[in-house]
Amino acid sequence: MEYSLKTTGAPTLEELHKSPAFPTHDQLRKGPIAVIECIEEIPCNPCEASCLKGAITIGESVTNLPKIDFEKCIACGMCIAACPGLAIYIKDYTYSDKNALLSFPYEYYPLPKVGDMVKAVDRYGKYVCDAKVIKVRNPKSNDHTAVVTIEYPKDHFEEAINMKRIFE
Ligand code: SF4
Ligand code: SF4
Repeated sequence: MEYSLKTTGAPTLEELHKSPAFPTHDQLRKGPIAVIECIEEIPCNPCEASCLKGAITIGESVTNLPKIDFEKCIACGMCIAACPGLAIYIKDYTYSDKNALLSFPYEYYPLPKVGDMVKAVDRYGKYVCDAKVIKVRNPKSNDHTAVVTIEYPKDHFEEAINMKRIFE
C-alpha cells in the first residue's frame, strides 16, 4: 500500500514538507515553534485570526492552505485550541539536553494531570515513547480544547505529535 493522507488518514512527512506551514528540519530544531499539519485545502481559517503576531496567513480564498512566517512565531500556543481540525502543535527541540517539549490539543476526558507519565504517539496513533506531562491548560476561552504539554526524549523528536488517550 502506498502511504498517504488519502490511504491512511495521516499525512506522510513527504506530503507535509510540501506544505507552507510545515517547518524545515533546521527550523524545527532552532527553538519553540508552531507546526501546522493542514494540507487539504478545506474552507477554514480560524488559525489566521487567532495569531496576534500575524504569523499565520490564509489570505483571500478561505480554501488556501495556511502559511506560517516562522520568524514571527513566538510559540505562544494561541493557535492550538483555535484550530477545529486539531492540526496545530508546538515543538521545542531546545528544551533541555535530553528532552524536547510538545504542546498539543487534547479533547478527551479525563484530562491528564501535571506529573503524569503518558504515552506519546505518532500520526498513526502508534506508541512512540513514554513522556511526562508538565502543563495542562484548559481555560474557558479554549472552548473545551485542552492544551497538554509533555516532555519526551529527543531521540523521538520527529515522530511524537500527541499522546494516547487515558481511560479511567
Ligand atoms: S504559536 Fe502563537 S505566534 Fe506562533 S503561529 Fe501560533 S498563535 Fe501565532
Ligand atoms: S484552523 Fe486548523 S484546520 Fe482550519 S485552516 Fe487553520 S490549520 Fe487548517
